[in-house]
Amino acid sequence: MPITTTNPATGETLRTFHALTAGELDGRLQRAADAFQRHRRTPLPERAEKMRRAGDILEGDRERLARLMTTEMGKTLASARAEAEKCAWVCRHYAEHAAAMLAPRPVDVGGTARGEVHFLPLGVVLAVMPWNFPFWQVFRFAAPGLMAGNVGLLKHASNVPQCALAIEEVFRRAGFDEGVFQALLVGSDAVAGMLDDPRVAAATLTGSTAAGQSVAERAGRNLKKTVLELGGSDPFIVMPSADLNAAAKTAARARCINNGQSCIAAKRFIVHRDAADAFERRFVAAMEALTVGDPLADGTDVGPLATAAIRDEVDEQVRASVAAGARLLTGGRRMDGPGFFYPPTVLADIPRDAPAYREEVFGPVASVFRVASIDEAIALANDSQFGLGSSVWTRDEDERRRFVAEIEAGMTYVNAMVASDPRLPFGGVKQSGYGRELGVFGMHEFVNIKSVWMEETAPADLPDAE
Ligand code: NAP
Repeated sequence: MPITTTNPATGETLRTFHALTAGELDGRLQRAADAFQRHRRTPLPERAEKMRRAGDILEGDRERLARLMTTEMGKTLASARAEAEKCAWVCRHYAEHAAAMLAPRPVDVGGTARGEVHFLPLGVVLAVMPWNFPFWQVFRFAAPGLMAGNVGLLKHASNVPQCALAIEEVFRRAGFDEGVFQALLVGSDAVAGMLDDPRVAAATLTGSTAAGQSVAERAGRNLKKTVLELGGSDPFIVMPSADLNAAAKTAARARCINNGQSCIAAKRFIVHRDAADAFERRFVAAMEALTVGDPLADGTDVGPLATAAIRDEVDEQVRASVAAGARLLTGGRRMDGPGFFYPPTVLADIPRDAPAYREEVFGPVASVFRVASIDEAIALANDSQFGLGSSVWTRDEDERRRFVAEIEAGMTYVNAMVASDPRLPFGGVKQSGYGRELGVFGMHEFVNIKSVWMEETAPADLPDAE
């Protein structure tokens, strides 16, 4: 099946690529396996130099790469530029810190022996990635992965083939050997076969819960390690002591970032009743003040959704929620004209069986809930299949401690919106997936943690073997 790229702001098909044939895919897998044997032996400083160069290329080529992202998946040009820069940051971060993260750790085992823990590469890692941060999702896996000595195979989302090829080119221009990082233009039907292939050692997937289940199942059958970064319906909790102006402004940004298509976008706004009227007024005003339009234009805050299917699904979720009894405070009607635009929308009084209560809404649609206490706020935050991020707004130290300890999520940000950062681990619990990316934890997901016991000479009394 051909892979096409469509500009979501206009609906125009930009390019069509042919998907790899089975024979071509086999050749790419072999190239990756061969490249691993060379790459694993490359000295770390050499890998770091190339990774730094990748960062320089991303920065130097920022405008071209940003336009590619914007025309291919609709994010605003300003956010696409920021994404290219963040990718440069993650490359430099791991170039600088990989040596310390991968350095053998001595362990005191007593006697004359020396104990050590080593961190060795696993091999070829398959990355199945989504379109929403078409560069960042890939670099946050590839930068630590390649520094650890693994090689990467990217199966990118089918609607961003140009971004996939551009990323491969960045690594090639940075000096990484052919085969160390390859973008494979294949559909999702090719993933199962790759997971079965003995040349693939492990897999990481960022995407929907359904895709994660299917990859985890297949990888599990093959006993291959996986990391899954899946959907989210993050709570954004506002307590009476919060700075309501800052909370409402950040709330609109946190919901509409990336045109509302972020796994860690705040989606459920849980507000204490003593602050609810004031917060709601400010929040609705902030959502209405956002400019929706051409993502290439200066001053646009919200561009189109990435595909017609996503726009239609968001529209359907809002309609069904309203039909179930939710109250529309603003937005809620798909926009006319070419392109897949949907306006910033706020829903309130959402019943438990409405889609906006239970499902992830992957567009600029906020759900507002009122609660009477911190206990209710935490219970509502946790009444979700997801557990990715969470943002809590309060000046009260006891409340902060309770939120951090009791919210079931991989991340809790206090008086700030959730954001990924190369220095901190990123990931979720429950149906949001497992494993971590970024930080030292992300680096250690795809390594063989090898125990080493060294004696200078064989001891006279051999210990019992287990
Ligand atoms: P998606 O449909 O799951 O697609 C993600 C990737 O998985 C694509 O490359 C897709 O390929 C592939 N895929 C889909 N079904 C598959 C299957 N059965 N087996 C193997 N691969 C499969 O997700 P999306 O709509 O692109 O992205 C939105 C979702 O990603 C949201 O739920 C969002 O919250 C989540 N997300 C999570 C994070 C995180 O870090 N936790 C970050 C970003 C996004 P095709 O394109 O060829 O179908």
